[in-house]
Amino acid sequence: MAEIQLRNVSKRWGSFVGVDNFDLTIADKEFLVLLGPSGCGKTTTMRMIAGLEDPTDGEILIGGNPVNDLEPKDRDIAMVFQSYALYPNMNVYENIRFPLRVRDGGKKADHDAKVMRASAMVELDEFLHRKPAELSGGQRQRVALARAIVREPNAFLMDEPLSNLDAKLRVSTRAQIRNLSHELSVTTIYVTHDQIEAMTLADRVVVMEKGVVQQVGSPTEIYDKPANTFVASFIGNPAMNLIEGNVSNGNFSATSTEVAGVGGSDGKMTLGFRAEDASVVDSGGQINAPIYALELLGDAVMISVRLGGTLVSVRTDKSFRAEIGDTVSISVPTEICHLFDGQTGERIG
Ligand code: ATP
Repeated sequence: MAEIQLRNVSKRWGSFVGVDNFDLTIADKEFLVLLGPSGCGKTTTMRMIAGLEDPTDGEILIGGNPVNDLEPKDRDIAMVFQSYALYPNMNVYENIRFPLRVRDGGKKADHDAKVMRASAMVELDEFLHRKPAELSGGQRQRVALARAIVREPNAFLMDEPLSNLDAKLRVSTRAQIRNLSHELSVTTIYVTHDQIEAMTLADRVVVMEKGVVQQVGSPTEIYDKPANTFVASFIGNPAMNLIEGNVSNGNFSATSTEVAGVGGSDGKMTLGFRAEDASVVDSGGQINAPIYALELLGDAVMISVRLGGTLVSVRTDKSFRAEIGDTVSISVPTEICHLFDGQTGERIG
């Protein structure tokens, strides 16, 4: 049982707050992804769980036991980092076996079987005699994975493990990590700033910004019901369109934009909608403005219009043809709109 609890965990250096009051229970066997921009506190959170960093405040429990005072090696968790940290003089077999040797001393015990099983899981069984220098980046990363697997830990902590791989290898290794975590049924906490990785891997995603948890939810919840404008603009590609304006009697208005029936109370509000949820119509749409940019994506055409200082993107049919500067009418169905408080950025409703 490796439920991991963070109870009001904070990390401060002097007056700087790296992680602010992180409070979450990660279920046994859950795949949790910490997502956010550079410097938001993902790695610090992970390092506190691992025992590499002491929390300034709060308590961490693994399997119900407080671990604040336990050394990293006594926490029974395995870490995989973006730098593989393999021993260059040891071959693949010895690298994978290394944590078992540290644990059991020189006794070979059942090391052989464990190394074979772990290496087979990451499809490295044919490379056991090679040194790290004779492997590709993806193969090295898989050695690091096998070295984590072989320990049969209570939990995996992975910090941007794919960031040194090229795009194609990243996709295949991503699938392999998800599969392994499922097969091994081990609680996994995974750090990334890549939203696609987060959406494809996670049972739940924690979105962080400036040390503060912004939202915790399934990938679908985070995408469909972002808690605030930060999450709305961080998740999705292109980012959600966010238009600042005013609501009066339930109707939203901003530059070249009138959307009726959005609800909310009167005052400053931000209207949000995704590029794929809006469409270009012949006339009568709620946004009417000249085309600022037009991108052919192959399966679709992305057009953008400028409303004051804000760029609004709409994904339209691949057969759409127009020139930059032509005025388009954009239909934004009220039911697909998101409404956020104009001051706090918090979701309304
Ligand atoms: P990245 O994606 O760039 O790795 P991150 O979200 O993992 O970013 P952290 O490494 O957790 O971010 O850092 C969070 C904040 O704490 C950053 O602003 C960082 O500069 C700061 N920080 C980290 N370690 C220290 C330290 N030892 N002393 C002071 N500030 C630190």
